[in-house]
Amino acid sequence: MTVLVAGLGISGAAAARVLLGRGDDVVLTDAAEPAVLAELVAAGARWLGPLTAPPEDVDLVVTSPGWRPDHPLLRAAADRGLEVIGEPELAWRLRVPGPDGGAPAPWYAVTGTNGKTTTVTMLESVLQAGGLRAVAAGNVGRPLVEVVTARDADGRAAYDAIAVELSSFQLHWSSSIAPAGACVLNVADDHVDWHGSFDAYRDAKAQLLRLAGVAVADAGNPVAASLVARHRHPVTVTLGEPEPGQLGVRAGALVDRAFSASPAGEVLVETDALQVRGPHNTVNALAAAALARVAGVDAAAIGAGLSRFRGGAHRNVLVGTVNGVDFVDDSKATNPHAAGASLAAYPRVVWIAGGLLKGADVDPLVAAVAPRLAGVVLLGRDREQLARSLARHAPSVPRTVVPSGDDGGVADVTDGDRVMREVVAAAVRLARPGDTVLLAPAAASMDVFTDYAHRGRAFADAVRALG
Ligand code: ADP
Repeated sequence: MTVLVAGLGISGAAAARVLLGRGDDVVLTDAAEPAVLAELVAAGARWLGPLTAPPEDVDLVVTSPGWRPDHPLLRAAADRGLEVIGEPELAWRLRVPGPDGGAPAPWYAVTGTNGKTTTVTMLESVLQAGGLRAVAAGNVGRPLVEVVTARDADGRAAYDAIAVELSSFQLHWSSSIAPAGACVLNVADDHVDWHGSFDAYRDAKAQLLRLAGVAVADAGNPVAASLVARHRHPVTVTLGEPEPGQLGVRAGALVDRAFSASPAGEVLVETDALQVRGPHNTVNALAAAALARVAGVDAAAIGAGLSRFRGGAHRNVLVGTVNGVDFVDDSKATNPHAAGASLAAYPRVVWIAGGLLKGADVDPLVAAVAPRLAGVVLLGRDREQLARSLARHAPSVPRTVVPSGDDGGVADVTDGDRVMREVVAAAVRLARPGDTVLLAPAAASMDVFTDYAHRGRAFADAVRALG
């Protein structure tokens, strides 16, 4: 086969490596010469530079998830009837057999607007606690092509189970992935610019459930719940008492009434044993537990795996307490739905918000969180949109505006650090002992920072500098 790999980021480079290892003819294209080029060319790939149409001899195109479907090259490929897939779909087709030539390692896959990485890494922890050789891969961790073709020292498949995170972009380019268990955690406003419409975004997420053995969703998210309701084996998770077919919370414990043989259900773990904060993380834990149940992991191991899990960087992490005020970094809250979940975890909040809103409507979020707000500090390019919404729904809440991000993408590290020091100083002036200063911007960071991790680090540094 001659395969055109379009876009040589981490997953594209991994796809090219695996295809070359199989002896396929690999041709490469990208907007600019990537750093891995020398390595791939030395391994036998051909570099074609930027392209607007695929060469005649190409049989298959593997595209980067970042490329939009209306990219001239992808359009030209589609017009010619060429198959275009993403790296996860390629990985699904290249899975190595399990021990003794048996079925390849099953996939337990998660998508959703928010909570994917947390749920998938929780699931990895739980599957491992259940004694499985499991790994988190896909949109988090290692590329899927790499883990599905990995072998151990005896030449056997290296993993028994794969905890897979898939973005809507990756799902757009997938067609035959059939996970043993799949979860659409939630669907809310995000990335509509890429997909063209909310319906197209939702349909990309729904694609994951089509061939799944069991379909899981958060019952609290109407869009996700309606997608799984049509599945032949639906399971939902709830923060309330679970009904049959649900996992939920009863008397301070996570309880399974979907997979347990007992009609009353089976206790998995006390809620207090979870190290991650907030109701949204309880939802994530229940979803991970549901998928682990599909993998046959027992209640004790699920409890052990969940209570061992410490959470990811920049996701509701307490970075310091100064004069009785907690400072929490949830820089990963890059859209209104995530910020809403985060704010719901704290009773009185000085909220740090703003950045690139990506066309999202912040009004419903601001209306919902207004009663919790002790103060607001606004930054970033779209700060005025937030200010207008606050003026409507929380007119008496004091707020400070830190002008920043107006040239839309300076991403100057020093400048970002300086802006964040000003933001934190303003938050300190608004906070009283017992309050939480919460960085949950509801927006992307690239107007002022290099990325959400830089924004979170700048926040933690500024808090540490308070002493
Ligand atoms: P993703 O991989 O989907 O971006 P993460 O697990 O990295 O998700 O979490 C990103 C942010 O989304 C968190 O920092 C938190 O603010 C919010 N979040 C996490 N889980 C949920 C959930 N179940 N529902 C809503 N928001 C969530």
